[in-house]
Amino acid sequence: MSSPDLRQKLSILADAAKYDASCASSGTSRRGSLDGKGVGSTSPGSGICHAYAPDGRCISLLKILLTNFCIYDCAYCINRVSSNVPRARFKVQEVVDLTLGFYKRNYIEGLFLSSGIIRDADYTMEAIVRVARTLRLDHDFRGYIHLKLIPEASPELVAEAGLYADRVSINIELPRDESLAKLAPEKDSRTIKKAMGSVRLAIENRSEKGRKARAPKFAPAGQSTQLIVGADAASDADILDRSVGLYGSYGLKRVYYSGFSPIPDGSSRLPQAKPPLMREHRLYQADWLLRVYGFERNEIALEDGMLDLDVDPKLAAALRSRGDYPVDVNTADRERLLRVPGLGVRGVDRLIGVRRFKRLTLEDVKRACGALAKARPFIVADGWSPGGLTDSAKLAALLPRDRPRQLELF
Ligand code: SF4
Repeated sequence: MSSPDLRQKLSILADAAKYDASCASSGTSRRGSLDGKGVGSTSPGSGICHAYAPDGRCISLLKILLTNFCIYDCAYCINRVSSNVPRARFKVQEVVDLTLGFYKRNYIEGLFLSSGIIRDADYTMEAIVRVARTLRLDHDFRGYIHLKLIPEASPELVAEAGLYADRVSINIELPRDESLAKLAPEKDSRTIKKAMGSVRLAIENRSEKGRKARAPKFAPAGQSTQLIVGADAASDADILDRSVGLYGSYGLKRVYYSGFSPIPDGSSRLPQAKPPLMREHRLYQADWLLRVYGFERNEIALEDGMLDLDVDPKLAAALRSRGDYPVDVNTADRERLLRVPGLGVRGVDRLIGVRRFKRLTLEDVKRACGALAKARPFIVADGWSPGGLTDSAKLAALLPRDRPRQLELF
């Protein structure tokens, strides 16, 4: 068979990268080309990788694998050594040229680069680093770069990757260590955790205040990971416990949840069906409550270890703790207001601003938060009290249901 041309490689290696959800990102502000120098920019607050910015703008990056050849045999992965898929491999210079070409044509705002393991961890990591080094040093590329780190790679290569990348990620993949041992025999959860710990230290050391000026930043947009949902028997409780541990121990910016997709010729140890899309969506919502709304893990309502697919986790938590409601929007602190279903962070901050000048009515809450249907039974406002509605047995049935949608970045 003839070797694939560049277009075929791009088709194979972009398709192979689609299973990695850990590329959405935000919060870097390292580089810019407004001074007329360099190529591209990472403008402050921009997110990358098919995500939606707060203004609704879809931002994109070239998301590819350097190669889908892999010497490992992770049962859940289409690129595993035993998989019968067409293979391709980019040369380093091809990735550099594609990135610059697409960037200059305004197709992308950056690069997400991952790879199967070719030969060994260092050989692969070195090739990934060479792409980023060439872009940054030879072409003064100032667009966004997200690099996948290989946990077994040498610390020197990881350190260099962090100098060129805005964000780095190491995928945990399976929420339970025992599942990883069973389904990804060449991977070792201890090595993965050790590598994540080193990345955390490098990020903290490089951004430490008081360090000598001009110490280069290490992955200024932080590190992230991905957990596959539904490939093993892990419950939502297991997954959320793992996420809480990851945020706490490794200072991750984000944990991404990716619903398992059955793969051709998949192992009989794997499920034959995808988990419901809503499961992934509910996990993202619960993760949001933990990270952004200040919820404790034990406030997330679970039934037999699973999130309710019919009701969003914030509403489920409120329905379970009705004794804590209604909340008076004129006097409650921010923490209490953030626990009211239907009130988002921005809406709550607006309410707190407005109530300095006047007593809040239901109309004010609607104006600040956009909608009232979910919040109404859980709040008291000037001229409004929900009376017996808060404790009504029919309350859950009276409230609107939501559909899965792309979450906002902020
Ligand atoms: S190491 Fe990565 S690319 Fe290779 S089989 Fe495992 S998950 Fe797939």
